[in-house]
Amino acid sequence: MNPGLRHTRSTCCYCGTGCGVIIHSAGNRIVGVEGDPEHPANFGKLCTKGNTLHLAAVQTGRATVPMLRESRDAPRKPATWDHALATAAERFAAIIHEHGPDAVGFYISGQLLTEDYYVFNKLARALVGTNNIDSNSRLCMSSAVAAYKATLGSDAVPCSYEDIDLADLILIAGANPAFAHPIVYRRIEAARAANPDLKLIVVDPRRTDTAADADLHLAITPGSDVLLYSAMLHVLLWEGMIDDNFIAEHTTGFADLRKQLAELTPGTVAPVCGVKADDIVTAARWFGQAKAPLSFWCQGLNQSTHGTANGAALIHLHLATGTIGKPGMGPFSLTGQPNAMGGREAGAMANLLPGHRNLLDAADRAELAALWGIPALPERPGKTAVEMFDAVRDGSIKAIWIACTNPAQSLPDLARVREALQTAEFVVVQDAWADTETAAFADLLLPAATWGEKDGTVTNSERRISRVRAAVPPPGEARADWRIARDFALALSARLTEPRHPGESRDPGKAPEASIPASTGMTAETLFPFTTPAEVYAEHVATTLGRDLDIGGLSHAALDRLGPQQWPFPAGAKTGEARLFIDHRFAFDDGKARFIPVATGLTAESPDARHPFRLVTGRLRDQWHGMSRTGRVPRLYAHEPEPAVRLHPADMARRGWREGTLMNLRSRRGEIVLPLAASDDVRPGQAFVAMHWGRRTLAHDGVNALTLPAFDPVSKQPELKHAAVRIEPADLPWRLAILRSPGGGLGADEQVQRWRAALEPLLAGLETGAYAALTLDGRDRPFVALRVATREPLDDERIERIAVALALSESASLNYRDSARHITKRAIVENGRLTGILLAGEDAGIGWLRAALRDGIAIDELRRWIFAPRATPPTATATPRRVVCNCFDVSAAAIEAEVRQGKALPEIQEKLKCGTSCGSCLTEVRRLIAASGATPYSATARAASSPTSG
Ligand code: SF4
Repeated sequence: MNPGLRHTRSTCCYCGTGCGVIIHSAGNRIVGVEGDPEHPANFGKLCTKGNTLHLAAVQTGRATVPMLRESRDAPRKPATWDHALATAAERFAAIIHEHGPDAVGFYISGQLLTEDYYVFNKLARALVGTNNIDSNSRLCMSSAVAAYKATLGSDAVPCSYEDIDLADLILIAGANPAFAHPIVYRRIEAARAANPDLKLIVVDPRRTDTAADADLHLAITPGSDVLLYSAMLHVLLWEGMIDDNFIAEHTTGFADLRKQLAELTPGTVAPVCGVKADDIVTAARWFGQAKAPLSFWCQGLNQSTHGTANGAALIHLHLATGTIGKPGMGPFSLTGQPNAMGGREAGAMANLLPGHRNLLDAADRAELAALWGIPALPERPGKTAVEMFDAVRDGSIKAIWIACTNPAQSLPDLARVREALQTAEFVVVQDAWADTETAAFADLLLPAATWGEKDGTVTNSERRISRVRAAVPPPGEARADWRIARDFALALSARLTEPRHPGESRDPGKAPEASIPASTGMTAETLFPFTTPAEVYAEHVATTLGRDLDIGGLSHAALDRLGPQQWPFPAGAKTGEARLFIDHRFAFDDGKARFIPVATGLTAESPDARHPFRLVTGRLRDQWHGMSRTGRVPRLYAHEPEPAVRLHPADMARRGWREGTLMNLRSRRGEIVLPLAASDDVRPGQAFVAMHWGRRTLAHDGVNALTLPAFDPVSKQPELKHAAVRIEPADLPWRLAILRSPGGGLGADEQVQRWRAALEPLLAGLETGAYAALTLDGRDRPFVALRVATREPLDDERIERIAVALALSESASLNYRDSARHITKRAIVENGRLTGILLAGEDAGIGWLRAALRDGIAIDELRRWIFAPRATPPTATATPRRVVCNCFDVSAAAIEAEVRQGKALPEIQEKLKCGTSCGSCLTEVRRLIAASGATPYSATARAASSPTSG
């Protein structure tokens, strides 16, 4: 062990799996990360994203000092914290005085820590007096919350990860854990390896890596989830596989639902769902025959205009069979973000209050007001995510505070969101990164600490609370999020209580809830007395006492001593609860769970003659959300080097479309351009686009330019998953391609980030309808890659400016120029290796050159090509090398070569090592083998191949 290294236990900041990590740091730098072998969520394993957390801890792009613009058209300039917060407080106070507390809003994040959530929540409700506080968790799991509350009576995930080991049937619905929750999926793989009888059913419109592994894949028509689960319940009922005693003793509402189910037979729903009736029957029988069925779901069910009904219909299967509250079984919602669950506990969403209290419940409001020592909480419902930005757009919310989230990339119908942010009188963005899509709109940009620099807690999908610890100090003047919220509260309080002008007394009727009445004896200092996150946590704990999530036995010190713990964990407890509802008493007054009527609509928007394709959105394996963190790690692009729209080969053949062609995608809300890729993982008539790519990568907003803002009436979660689109080839004949590497060695990563940052303004300045992809690649020798396609050529001066910014100027390069054809080729060779390429006018050789830069090529070959007037590049393909195994840098081509030689998985792994470390690539390796007609996934092969099976 290196004596200069410090080791700090913390938690991964990506998905809701909540893996424990050990951060390696030296001085003020994070230099490595490993899985925490003692953390019960992952037992030392990490996926590709978690394994590279330290590589995302770069400094380029960080917000390090407050940046303020005095007017909308002025540039932002550095400001002191005191001036920045005083200005923000002035602007917020003026708006609150003039228009009331609901004229401001707070939009926060599932990536904040519970302590951050808590202080923001108190700031909004107790000090400002508004319920306009919502979280980006609204976009990922509010439908699951609503479904749990409607059926079980409380927002309580009844299961634990250990149930995976005990289940004999796993149903994964609208989730792709092989990509989005990889360590959960490793555990599922291990359970299948240990128990060959364990069946896996996957419900997903696409054949994802998870679906490809399933014993039964139901590739349903998007939005037909309720019909499917209702038909399964119909079969359970018809074939006598329901638990009549459980239904009678522990539930209500079944008789009414039964009437609705009468019509929903497999035969009637199968044509709508797009699957065989027999498969629905099989799924129902497997579920009904299982002793311990476990169901996972995620965004595929949640991001729907009937997301609450989707979740409820799935939960109904467990209530009807009495398979809940016992080992190995139950409905298990996977949370997307690392602390979406913590936000639910802290009540930091418009319709919630701390401690699982409800805003609309007067007793809950009174109880919380008493705890906080204020007379009352505001009653008016707050705006949820989509509503909040609509209110900003229509001017009813005039100032918005956005913390640790990127709504200009992640909300649906981004044209509306951009309009809202341009309309707002005052936009505060509090973020670790200064270059997000949203930061561009900030009047005040406040630098926040981020992963590796923060102290607090998060709660994962299985209700497990883990400590997050700082390994290094934040850069510059960045502060912890909870502290920024506290400091702003203190600054705002002073302005809310002071007269606005000398000699003016405050009109007490103007904004009655926007201050702390003197009669309470409370001041901002007593309302926000926190000096450490542990103190914030202690107050959060007090809001949970006596409630379903009682964590009276926990504190930062207790978590440090005991390790991660599941809630509830009341005072005196020795351990948390692995399962809820074990006595089958549910959280309604009568103790009975509810079957609820479920709407059976499909998607909010269906394909038609003008928009004939069904767009489905989803995730990539190695990227996270809007890529503000993973997008800084060159090797995380290797699996999917560029954005694409994926269509079924039959759709392409019918229209004569070829892979790599740039396509224009139009919905009723916007249009984007992406290269075309063939994939039989989507059905004919469907199109798939990943949700990650935004304006930092593309010349447009990415897929959320197309998605629609319609939302579930109960959960208010928008339908980000589906839209109807028109797809046609784009006419963009002029091409520019740039590759630039600083070579390897110290500082290479930061240099690549700087070059990338230098290229970003180019994206914003391209003609409407242009295509651009600004990405990274490489491992030991990272590089930046830019591809541009436009109708008109960029002028020479502009190209030269770009070249100079990347040290690719004419004087420093090998050059070829064909003035007649307006073609420029330029290459830089340093220390015998290609390190830079610029192609203007045509980019035919870019795929070969990308490989050349990454892997090294004979310089003579390159020289011949550069100086030959009409040379054909050795490989004309524009497709970059695709890496399947990121741990050992193994490409798809290398695996396919082994498969062609007839090698089986163990032999391939023996030679290439793919899938033997984090295991994230295993599903894809199996698919490549299966594509050859071999059997990749026998029980023996499972046991041999899984990195978790040892
Ligand atoms: Fe992080 Fe991967 Fe674990 Fe999710 S599964 S918490 S991304 S290491």
